[in-house]
Amino acid sequence: ELQQYLPNYRAQVNEVNDKLRELEINFSLTFQKAARWTQKTLFILNVGLVLIFVGIAIWLSQQVFKQLSRSIEGERSALRHAAKVAQEANEAKSMFIATMSHEIRTPMNALIGMSELLDETRLTAEQREYIDTIHSSGHSLLLLINDILDFSKVESGYLELDEINFDLEKMILDIIQLMHSKAESRGDELLVDYSYDCPQYFIGDSGRIRQILINLIGNAIKFTEQGHITVHVTHAELSEERVQLSIAVEDSGTGIAKQDQQKIFEVFTQADGSTTRRYGGTGLGLAISKRLMNLMGGEISLSSDVGQGSTFSITLPLKLGVRPEDANSGELTGLRALVVDDYAPNRKIFEAQLNAFGIDTLVVEDAYEALDRLYHAEHQGQPFDLLLTDQNMLNMDGLSLVKALQHDNPECKTPLIVVLSSSGHRGDLQSFQQAGAAGYLTKPVERKLLYKFLSTVVGYAGKADAPFVTRELLINSDDKSEEQRFVASAFSGTVLVAEDILPNQIVIRNLLQKLGLDVDIVADGEAAVDAYRMGQYDLILMDIRMPVMDGFEAAVRIRELEIEQGNTHRIPIIALTADVLASTRQQSEQVGMDGFIAKPFKQEEVIEALIPYLAPGISAMNKSPSEPLNSPSVVQATAVNIPHLDLMRTQLDSYFEEFINAYLNDTQVIVESLPGLLKAEEFSELQRLVHGIKSSSLNAGANHFSEMAKALEDAAKRQDRAQFFDSFTEFFDEFKRVREVLVEYSAQHSINVTGGQQ
Ligand code: ADP
Repeated sequence: ELQQYLPNYRAQVNEVNDKLRELEINFSLTFQKAARWTQKTLFILNVGLVLIFVGIAIWLSQQVFKQLSRSIEGERSALRHAAKVAQEANEAKSMFIATMSHEIRTPMNALIGMSELLDETRLTAEQREYIDTIHSSGHSLLLLINDILDFSKVESGYLELDEINFDLEKMILDIIQLMHSKAESRGDELLVDYSYDCPQYFIGDSGRIRQILINLIGNAIKFTEQGHITVHVTHAELSEERVQLSIAVEDSGTGIAKQDQQKIFEVFTQADGSTTRRYGGTGLGLAISKRLMNLMGGEISLSSDVGQGSTFSITLPLKLGVRPEDANSGELTGLRALVVDDYAPNRKIFEAQLNAFGIDTLVVEDAYEALDRLYHAEHQGQPFDLLLTDQNMLNMDGLSLVKALQHDNPECKTPLIVVLSSSGHRGDLQSFQQAGAAGYLTKPVERKLLYKFLSTVVGYAGKADAPFVTRELLINSDDKSEEQRFVASAFSGTVLVAEDILPNQIVIRNLLQKLGLDVDIVADGEAAVDAYRMGQYDLILMDIRMPVMDGFEAAVRIRELEIEQGNTHRIPIIALTADVLASTRQQSEQVGMDGFIAKPFKQEEVIEALIPYLAPGISAMNKSPSEPLNSPSVVQATAVNIPHLDLMRTQLDSYFEEFINAYLNDTQVIVESLPGLLKAEEFSELQRLVHGIKSSSLNAGANHFSEMAKALEDAAKRQDRAQFFDSFTEFFDEFKRVREVLVEYSAQHSINVTGGQQ
């Protein structure tokens, strides 16, 4: 049975086996499928995930980018806004500066102008002193305002530069002269060492160059208590028309510590804070100078050591200029002028000033009215010769007025137009020149300058190559170098110079040699006396303050030597000193000096002082053109020194009347007694009396008369009857002149003169 079933089982087992195998195969197939599927799915999933991640990343970065660009755009527009605001602020600042400049200068002009007018009225000495203070304070305030305005102009890029032909040598000498009068109580020596071969005329912004030099020289004076300040000028050629100009202002003052040398060029900084208290100042000067130099393409540098002094140097490329043709000053009397100014005090000042010049003046307050007046005057056959116009005015400004006159009214004869502006925009100058104006001045304008300005404009009128007349041109126009060249050939002789400071020696030697004179130089008074004893000289230039023996003592010794040696020729001795006090001048006369030149001197001053002794061919140089008003100081300067008299009047106050009367009385009595005494040969009495006249006349400012008394005193001392007799008539005549001047002066100042009448 088993056997029977066994094949069945086997068959069944096989079947089962087959089925199992089939199942196994199926399973493995299915498994493989499933695995493949899973693999595929996983792959797809992976790719999907990656894609999702990438998508998310892209989306995220897009968001970030959007955010970023949004904020960048925000910042950009903020920046644009800020820039706009800054530009607006800058424009507002410029506008503000322009307006400020005009608004401040306008009343300043009135202040300074009115104080000048007031100064010409009858005033007590006390009132005059107050007015002078107002006047000078007005000026310093104006300077300060100009500084601040300038600085903001440079900072805001608002400053334009001018190109003007100017005389550099003259400019420097003028600055020194101006500064020196301020520093007169100090013992500083101021010198200009202008290289002999350096050109004189340049083209550039002379106003700015002047400003920088004023600052540097002013500082040098400020920080040099006692010592010397020298301005060296040299040049190097850049091309045929351009040179590199170098100006060094060297002082022997306090010096500046190394660590401060950089910082003083910054705004409102001073090397030593305590100097502000001691010397004043704003700390703006050098900052402005540096910026101006950069603007002009130049550089400023400093070399200094504490206690050793400082040298500020500027180098600046400049075009070479030309010597302007000399202006003939035109006659103003009888001219007709129209003044346009919208500010009432200005109109008043100009009217008073122009009338004083003899100009028939009409003032109006607006440009339309001016056009109207000009038109009518023309049609009535009485045209105006001059038009003085303001720039900033309501309705129509000065420039439009000038343009309107030149271009729109061809049938109307145009007067000479000059512009008097208080805003002083530098670029204005060119615009007005192009529009056809003849000249331009910034207000305030002092009377003297206005006179010179107008007469120069009138003098140039109608000339083809007439220059545009500006302040610079006027300052430069009274140049006498041509005349100097002419007179140079007329000099001959040997001059002894006693001067202890080397730079001074160089400058004087240079000048005298230019004049064709021989020069010997010694460094102190004793050496001067020795040189005089040994040598043959025609004149002595004598510094006063010198080591070993001062100039006064040396002069006394030389005069004694003259007598001892029985010299017939009295050598002229001219004092040359930085000390311009009246007492020094008097003392120089008392010790027997014949002249007095204040340092720093202009070349022509030295030349003028030398002419009587060393160039007898030339009697006198042409004096400057006549003054606008007959101020007593001009008309009567020869007999009596009026400024000295003014000083005495202030000092003596109510005693001045007594003084003048006593002087006139006493002198009259003495002068009348002289002939009798001479006849009786009472020489010692004569000597005593004329000696008295000599010194009292110095007090009265009658310097020449005092000199004559001195000569008589000498004659009396020598018992030289003939000489006494010879000089007598002249002496008497001079006294008459002195008396006339004193009487007239007293009348002008309401002083009652009773003494000295014949
Ligand atoms: P301010 O003179 O108005 O103070 P500046 O800018 O002209 O202004 O000068 C700045 C400072 O530089 C002065 O206060 C001073 O300390 C110093 N300084 C300028 N020039 C000289 C000089 N020649 N000698 C000594 N110190 C000077």
